[in-house]
Amino acid sequence: MKMHEATPEERKQFYSEEWNKRELPDFILHTLSLREFGFDLDGTGPSHRYNQFMTVEKLMEYLQNRAPYSVFASVALYDQPSMRKGWLKSELAFDIDAKDLPLKSCGCTSGKVCERCIDEARRIAIEFADTMRTDLGLHNIVFSYSGRGFHIRVTDDTIMTLEQTERTQVVEYVTGGVIPTDVTMALGYSQVFRERLARTFKGLDEQRLSKARGLRKSIIQKLLAEKERALEAIRRGKLNELSTLGGLGPKTFRQFLDFLVRLNSECTDGKVTIDTKRILRLPSSLHSGVSMKCMLVRDMERFKLEDALPKFVSERES
Ligand SMILES: [Zn+2]
Repeated sequence: MKMHEATPEERKQFYSEEWNKRELPDFILHTLSLREFGFDLDGTGPSHRYNQFMTVEKLMEYLQNRAPYSVFASVALYDQPSMRKGWLKSELAFDIDAKDLPLKSCGCTSGKVCERCIDEARRIAIEFADTMRTDLGLHNIVFSYSGRGFHIRVTDDTIMTLEQTERTQVVEYVTGGVIPTDVTMALGYSQVFRERLARTFKGLDEQRLSKARGLRKSIIQKLLAEKERALEAIRRGKLNELSTLGGLGPKTFRQFLDFLVRLNSECTDGKVTIDTKRILRLPSSLHSGVSMKCMLVRDMERFKLEDALPKFVSERES
């Protein structure tokens, strides 16, 4: 599948013929006038901010007249969105962008995406949401396809009033992005931490491991030769066995863990999650850089990229 940039004419066609207010998710429709809208009108960046729409018809009129390059809405609700004042609450959002994944099996160069890494982003998004459901007791979780990856938004009341420090803790927990300090306790590392660590370690090869500070080539080769046993040790939380398998001293072991944890945290852009005033691409809008629709995904297991293709793309190809 080729991903071309949309022309101004195609954007115009999309917003006048194809954009439909019914594709706006309810959680946005029901809070429309409390959100700040941002626009990138020509592909140079979202510089038109502080917009407020009292009705969906007004939004539609704007979209049809301006045919923007990109459309964004705040995760926050405000008393005065056009001044970004009177903050009420914010969704908790995760941005899992295939172009920025730390480990990809496809070989896409930085900044590029393909069907395979978008699928890897999809798996990670499902994982994160599962953890939030089972471990954090959150239930109002929605997914959207962003054009190059996925957004998760959590709208549970308990989460929407969290401050930045608490949001940081959530993102660290969900991604396995920090080494838990409770490692000395009898129970060992949390299951989510072990799973994230195992997923990352599984995706590493010699070249990638050579980027870890302090890991000599002989250690890397030992670890990779014993990869299955090492993975098993991680899954059981027996990280000391990992040191034995690779012959790692305490300092090198710590550096190795730091390396894995950093990769874990890079699966999502943590800045998005902790920023309570962030704007995110509006589901239903066009991602003009790749000519795909940003859209709500009701069933992540069944999502296919073809679902997100606007009509003008099939016309372009026929
Ligand atoms: Zn790729």
